[in-house]
Amino acid sequence: MTKIDPAAPVLVTGGSGYVASWIVRYLLEDGHTVRATVRDPAKPKGLEHLHRLADAHPGKLSLHQADLLDEGSFAEAMPGCELVIHTASPFLIGNIRNPQRELVEPALEGTRNVLASVDATDSVKRVVLTSSVVAVHGDNADMRGADTFTEADWNTTSSVDHQPYPYSKTVAERAAWAIQAAQKRWDLVTIHPGLVLGPALTTASVSGSMTTMKHFTDLSMAAGAPALQMGVVDVRDVARAHILAGFTPEANGRYLTNAETVSMLQMGKILRRAFGRSLSFPTRELPKFMIRIGAPAAGLTRKFVDLNVGWPLAYDSSRTSAELGVEFRPAETTIAEHYQQMIDDGLVRGPR
Ligand code: NAP
Repeated sequence: MTKIDPAAPVLVTGGSGYVASWIVRYLLEDGHTVRATVRDPAKPKGLEHLHRLADAHPGKLSLHQADLLDEGSFAEAMPGCELVIHTASPFLIGNIRNPQRELVEPALEGTRNVLASVDATDSVKRVVLTSSVVAVHGDNADMRGADTFTEADWNTTSSVDHQPYPYSKTVAERAAWAIQAAQKRWDLVTIHPGLVLGPALTTASVSGSMTTMKHFTDLSMAAGAPALQMGVVDVRDVARAHILAGFTPEANGRYLTNAETVSMLQMGKILRRAFGRSLSFPTRELPKFMIRIGAPAAGLTRKFVDLNVGWPLAYDSSRTSAELGVEFRPAETTIAEHYQQMIDDGLVRGPR
């Protein structure tokens, strides 16, 4: 049982990110004081959404400079915080040249770095870490034989060379549990979203969520979609899950946060129902052998195609609903509202 004083400031790492900025917004709307870390608080573009939130909640939001790779850089913002929500970590898909440097080091060293400051800061009682379903499994094929993935599963199949982003999240979460177990003052709760979609508060994020939605705007699936299933969850529900995990005294362990499993084709159908016909919305699935042939040109390995395309996928998020009280929006709402936000932001043309 960990009771967090609601009047104490809450630290959110990577506060400008797609997921984190919704966490910051909800914390402020709930009346909390928030310290958000960003790599460059002085940058002229990309922080407008946080500045707007600061203006709307005077004296409640402060920005602090911190980089995952700078040892000790989170220490300045932490004193007085009882709750630390650690979301900062690169989520990049496609065209990763140096996965060790671009993904694994910031995820792992960053987690060690943040938690070293937690260890050194007496006020901290709980850390909520943004993990992922990819720390639960690497490839869809890993579900072999089971009906669903649960919080008991761990990704044992990813490496720097195969599925480096899942690998980065897995080693970072494992390190977090090991560091937590070495002391008794603070506890750890981890949140495991599938693909997070839904309206973004910023157009500056380079999250894989944005990369995925771009595939529905650029004709890359005009001929058809891969038969690829993924867990989808609304960014607003993920943000709420982090806050509930922070302030629910009994919260403990890992929480899967997924609304539904959908395929790329189902996403295309949702978009067509909401926005009408577009060549960018796939109307059929391509046979796996064609996806295999085209994989390298699309930035995918054939091993990825073999172990993910055509495999069923399911997650059991019932623990999160039962223990944290999270109610998940249906994927149809999430996907349509994400695309509408892209139209409103001028990133894509609306229906003609
Ligand atoms: P995002 O918008 O790209 O946010 C990532 C954040 O990480 C950014 O705020 C960025 O900060 C920060 N960051 C990256 N490298 C950093 C470094 N070296 N030092 C300090 N900060 C650094 O991506 P997101 O989708 O919101 O992801 C947030 C978290 O959710 C990540 O832990 C990700 O693994 C996890 N997650 C995401 C999804 C999803 O579908 N989006 C699913 C499961 C889990 P700056 O802006 O200051 O550069």
